[in-house]
Amino acid sequence: MIGVLGAGQLGRMLALAGYPLGLRFRFLDTAHDAPVRDLAEFVRAEFTDFAALDRFAAGLDVATYEFENVPVDAVEHLARCVPVFPPPAALRASQDRLEEKTFFRNLGIATAPFVAVDVRADLDRALEGIGYPAILKTRRMGYDGKGQYLIRERAAAEQAWQTLSGAVLLEGFVHFDRELSQIAVRGRDGRIVFYPLVENHHADGMLRLSLAPAPNRTPALEQLARDYARRVLEALNYVGVLTIEFFQQGEQLLANEMAPRVHNSGHWTIEGAETSQFENHLRALLGLPLGAAEARQPCAMLNLIGDLPEARTILAHAGAHLHLYGKKPRPGRKIGHVTVRAGTIEEVLDRLEKLRLSLR
Ligand code: AMP
Repeated sequence: MIGVLGAGQLGRMLALAGYPLGLRFRFLDTAHDAPVRDLAEFVRAEFTDFAALDRFAAGLDVATYEFENVPVDAVEHLARCVPVFPPPAALRASQDRLEEKTFFRNLGIATAPFVAVDVRADLDRALEGIGYPAILKTRRMGYDGKGQYLIRERAAAEQAWQTLSGAVLLEGFVHFDRELSQIAVRGRDGRIVFYPLVENHHADGMLRLSLAPAPNRTPALEQLARDYARRVLEALNYVGVLTIEFFQQGEQLLANEMAPRVHNSGHWTIEGAETSQFENHLRALLGLPLGAAEARQPCAMLNLIGDLPEARTILAHAGAHLHLYGKKPRPGRKIGHVTVRAGTIEEVLDRLEKLRLSLR
């Protein structure tokens, strides 16, 4: 039995990948209507309810998490009863943007310039050093572009400071060529398998579209991304899937953040890779041999955000694979995705364009 903290769409896709391997799952989440509710054993509780965590842990072989803001205390508590992967230290680093970027820097991984800002006077000093534009970000609980304020000029600093309360950091704005992510998985024996680089398109801080493998990626760029991912995985003695999001500038990669879990930019691997990120995460947790991560075909993955489209409209497109998460449509909410596959990237882009037109 595999225990998973968090029961959203990532958990749902983990379970769906595990059933062919004969695995069973138990989830814990605070939401009543979590996407896994009809699929697996489900414990509804607060993550900080240690008595519920103990009940949840009884009889598990291994546990993992699919939600980045699970309190580290909860994971550490669970780790006293059952092996938990990825290691809690990875979760801790990823929850605090300042710790995360400092961790990257200490490993020699390039990032945008950043400075901790604790009091108002720090902000003025930091802006002098970093220049404009710059982005003020909350250290914690930021995701999908939340907790950020773009400062274009000196006059905007006060407003930014008033808007974001609590601990923050200031980052230089990166005029990137594009955004890329590297997904990698490390087994219990230390073996690492790398997925091809993925090109990601965000709007309003939220992932909309991924192209995989990233078109026009050079061997040097891929090598650099893998080298950076390896440093993180080995430093943490990591087990499971890890994602690092990068900004590309020429042949340079700047690490923006990491996710110690399966990732939205890896959904294409379900139909598009030899072994999906979900299956490989499970294989890693269980100490099973990892599967090959090569792409079978070029893919595009389009997130369905807000409105629920007609399944019929999507499925009428050649090479389109629809995933719905069983979530209620709501503006700005990820409720599903479509992966489009074809023999060439040109054909993928052509199919994607037609799909988008039909969704309008
Ligand atoms: P984050 O919440 O840090 O993942 O940021 C969400 C998105 O905001 C990123 O995927 C980028 O598109 C954009 N962004 C974040 N930080 C920067 C930066 N330093 N420079 C330019 N764009 C950024």
